[in-house]
Amino acid sequence: MAKQLPEHPAWLWRDPNPKSSYDAIVIGGGGHGLATAYYLARNHGLTNIAVLEKGWLAGGNMARNTTIIRSNYLWDESAAIYEYALKLWELLPAELDYDFLFSQRGVLNLAHTLQDVRDSVRRVEANRLNRVDAEWLEPDEVAKVCPIINVSPELRYPVLGATFQPRAGIAKHDHVAWAFARACDAMGVDIIQHCEVTGFVKDGNRVVGVDTTRGRINAGLVGLVAAGHSSVLAEKAGFRLPVQSHPLQALVSELYEPVHPTVVMSNYVHVYVSQAHKGELVMGAGVDAYNGYGQRGSFHVIERQMAAAIELFPIFARAHLLRTWGGIVDVTPDASPIIGATPVENLYVNCGWGTGGFKATPSAGWVMAHTMATGEPHELNRPFGLERFTTGALIDEHGAAGVAH
Ligand SMILES: Cc1cc2nc3c(=O)[nH]c(=O)nc-3n(C[C@H](O)[C@H](O)[C@H](O)COP(=O)(O)OP(=O)(O)OC[C@H]3O[C@@H](n4cnc5c(N)ncnc54)[C@H](O)[C@@H]3O)c2cc1C
Repeated sequence: MAKQLPEHPAWLWRDPNPKSSYDAIVIGGGGHGLATAYYLARNHGLTNIAVLEKGWLAGGNMARNTTIIRSNYLWDESAAIYEYALKLWELLPAELDYDFLFSQRGVLNLAHTLQDVRDSVRRVEANRLNRVDAEWLEPDEVAKVCPIINVSPELRYPVLGATFQPRAGIAKHDHVAWAFARACDAMGVDIIQHCEVTGFVKDGNRVVGVDTTRGRINAGLVGLVAAGHSSVLAEKAGFRLPVQSHPLQALVSELYEPVHPTVVMSNYVHVYVSQAHKGELVMGAGVDAYNGYGQRGSFHVIERQMAAAIELFPIFARAHLLRTWGGIVDVTPDASPIIGATPVENLYVNCGWGTGGFKATPSAGWVMAHTMATGEPHELNRPFGLERFTTGALIDEHGAAGVAH
C-alpha cells in the first residue's frame, strides 16, 4: 500500500528523517507549531529545530477551521495579542512570498437584544481605546454592508445593530500552513510528519527529549503546540492543564455566485457565515457539549446552525449542504489561551485557543518563539501564563469569543 502512495512533492518542503538530536523541538504541525518554528528561525536564529507532527501537516484544526481573522476582543491583553496578529497577517503574504488569499472584507457581530447592544457598544469603545478599528452600525447600516441579512423588525430575534471591524476578514488556511512550512524548510527546519510524540524524556525536572513513534529524539528545548491534544501530552509530561477538548464542527454549501460580501457572526441566533473565494458558504456555530477526540460531531448541532443561518439569511433556504467536518478544540475556563512556561523546565506550552486560534497564528508563533528562545514571556503573552489559574488573574473573553470565535 505504502509503495502505491505518491512521493512527497519536494518543491513544497523536504521530507527528512528525524535526527537523533535538535536544539529545539516543536510538537504539532498545525499553524501555531509552524509559526513557532518559523519565528524561532527568523527572529532568534535557531535553525537546528524540528516540527513533529503525528499525522500530516495541517491535518488538525489548521485546515479544518473557518478562517475568520479579527482582533475586536474586549480586554486589553486580548486586543493586544490579536491586533499584533492582524498586523502580521497584513505583512505575511509578501514576507512569505505566498498568496494565501488574505481578504480584509470586514466582520459584523450582530446584536439581537438590548443586553447584546450594550455589550457590543462597550466592546466598540474598548476596541477604539486599544486602537483596534471598530464601529457600531444601526440595522440600516448593517443592511448596506451585507444586503442579504434579514433586518426586518418582525423577526423573532431582530437585528438591533452590529459591531463592524473593517480590517477583519478571512485567509485560506491550508495555504497559510504551506507558506509557513516552505519558509521554515528554506531556513533548514525539519518538518517531520507521521511522527507521534508518545512521551517525554526528563533529567530530573528538565525535559531533554521526546519519545516518538520514530524513535527517541533529544532536544534542549521543547514547545508543546498540540491544540486539542495538549492536555493528553501535558499529562505524559507530568502536569495538568485546565483545558477541555471538545469537537467543533463546520460546514460548507455548494459553490454559489458571490452573494455574501463580508463575515457575519451572531452569538444570539448562533451561527457565523462567510463566503469562501471558491463560492462555498462557510458556516459554523458552537462546540459540541461533550468532551472528545474524534474529529466529528453530532448532527443536531449542524441542524441548529442551519436553522439559524436561514433565519438570518432567508435566501440560503434553497442552498445545498456540500460537506461537514469537525476538529478538536482546546477550551480553557476563561476562553483565553495559555502561552508560557510549564512546571517542567525547558518545556513550554501554547494551547487553549479553543474555537478561535487561527486568527492568532502569527502572533502566537511570534510570542511562543520568543518565550522558548529567551526563557522569558514576551510582553504580549505575559498575562496568558498558566499561573493565572492559581493567581485568579483570568482574562474572561467569553463575550467576544461567543459564537465560537
Ligand atoms: C471547525 C472549526 C472552525 C474554526 N474556525 C476558526 C475561525 O474561523 N477562526 C479562528 O481564529 N479559529 C478557528 N478555529 C480554531 C483554530 O482552528 C485553532 O484554534 C487553531 O488552529 C489551533 O492551532 P493549530 O493550528 O496549531 O492547531 P492544530 O492544527 O490542531 O495543530 C495541532 C497539531 O498537533 C498534532 N498533534 C497532536 N498530538 C500530537 C502528538 N502526540 N505528536 C505529534 N503531533 C501531535 C495534531 O495532529 C495537529 O496537527 C476553528 C476550529 C475548528 C475545529
